Amino acid sequence: MKITIIGAGIVGVTTSYFLAKHGYEVEVLERQEGPALETSFANAGMITPSMADPWNSPGILTTLVKNIGRKDSAFLLRLNALPSLIGWGLSFLLNSNKKTFLKNTHLSAGLSCYSLQVLKELRAELGLEYEQRETGSLKVFRDKGSMDKYAKISSYLEQYDMRFKMVYGTEILKIEPSLEPVIDELCGAIFYPDDEAGNAYKFTCEVAKAAEKEGVKFRYGVSAEKLNMVDDAIFGISTNEGDVKADKYILCTGSFSPILAQGVGIDIPVRPVKGYSISVPLNGWNKGPIMPIVDDGFHAAITPLGNILRVAGTAEFAGYDDRLDQDRINNLYELLEEIYPNFGAAVKREYVNEWCGFRPMSADGVPFIGKTPIENLFVNTGHGPLGWTMASGCAKMLCDIVTDVTPKLDPYSYRLGRC
Ligand SMILES: Cc1cc2nc3c(=O)[nH]c(=O)nc-3n(C[C@H](O)[C@H](O)[C@H](O)COP(=O)(O)OP(=O)(O)OC[C@H]3O[C@@H](n4cnc5c(N)ncnc54)[C@H](O)[C@@H]3O)c2cc1C
Repeated sequence: MKITIIGAGIVGVTTSYFLAKHGYEVEVLERQEGPALETSFANAGMITPSMADPWNSPGILTTLVKNIGRKDSAFLLRLNALPSLIGWGLSFLLNSNKKTFLKNTHLSAGLSCYSLQVLKELRAELGLEYEQRETGSLKVFRDKGSMDKYAKISSYLEQYDMRFKMVYGTEILKIEPSLEPVIDELCGAIFYPDDEAGNAYKFTCEVAKAAEKEGVKFRYGVSAEKLNMVDDAIFGISTNEGDVKADKYILCTGSFSPILAQGVGIDIPVRPVKGYSISVPLNGWNKGPIMPIVDDGFHAAITPLGNILRVAGTAEFAGYDDRLDQDRINNLYELLEEIYPNFGAAVKREYVNEWCGFRPMSADGVPFIGKTPIENLFVNTGHGPLGWTMASGCAKMLCDIVTDVTPKLDPYSYRLGRC
């Protein structure tokens, strides 16, 4: 049985590994020249089941309206993106009422915790090295109201055995001494000891190598242009390199999934939400950060990865516009300087890699994993700001669905067509 996966981001590559391990003949089509060169390339690197709450939390509408056109805001809605957001945007907002938000947080948290478990197993099985850190993460707050609000979410997530500790002043410094210069500006922090971090690009490349050893054939530079149907099934894919045929097909094309699916009459409510990152050389800073620091106000994070600090975040509804907006990038430099004033002030921008990517955001903040109305077409997409956190679990779950094994989590909750 041959399966063709479209997309070699972190989701497609991990999916290919599990399916090949299961004995399938697997081929992956990827338009780039290697794995993880789009959104999985330079994300914040955090594996944070603790932050599983969807972004469309109660109050998101006010936040978005207040920030229209504000280049320094964490959330930016560009007016020219509005037409592409009409149906999806309404669903995104409808999902932000308290009851639905909690239901979606529950689904997202269950999946993230499961995924962390699968990631640990994969790491042990394959001996993966990807600049990983099993240090936990720290969310810092500048005002008590935000901290109390987030503490409630953390309490809610305790049902998944996600531990958290609220810390203040010198207690924060015991966990993360590098925050010493700004400690007086923080009203407190929440420490999540079970979170992890790591370089998603390196992880994906390592898993791709392992998948190749299991027989997966990666075809880079191959762009899927159209899914072709005969009767009720996919018959093949038209690509820039000719037609490709398989028995089953899986869309792992991140933010671009709706485009291919639309061609065969399937609506995938996923839209791109642009985010930015800067990768700053640590230059031997030997008392540098130990763990990812998430700044709640900025909606951004600073993560030590190997010999760089990755500053990543901000959300911009800008359609598929992949230009690097210098104002948004500047926000990240500012955050770096706010959290690490000495280090931030000394950064030489010519040595910094600036990047942006599209988070594949589903309307309810939960990914789509599983079957589609077309019998031999499956999806694994819509992981939004948590694709690194969720990739391993989603890949295993999709493999279970394809092979008719009962998945650990109920796939009905993650089905396409639920919103
Ligand atoms: C700034 C930022 C910070 C983030 N931080 C975190 C974080 O700390 N933790 C976390 O868990 N998540 C984070 N994320 C989210 C995470 O990076 C994404 O959810 C994840 O990378 C999505 O993976 P993917 O494989 O679905 O998509 P992608 O990595 O985009 O992969 C899709 C692949 O499909 C290919 N493709 C698309 N269309 C076609 C086609 N027609 N033919 C052939 N190939 C095609 C693309 O080239 C691409 O390689 C962040 C995202 C951003 C932008």
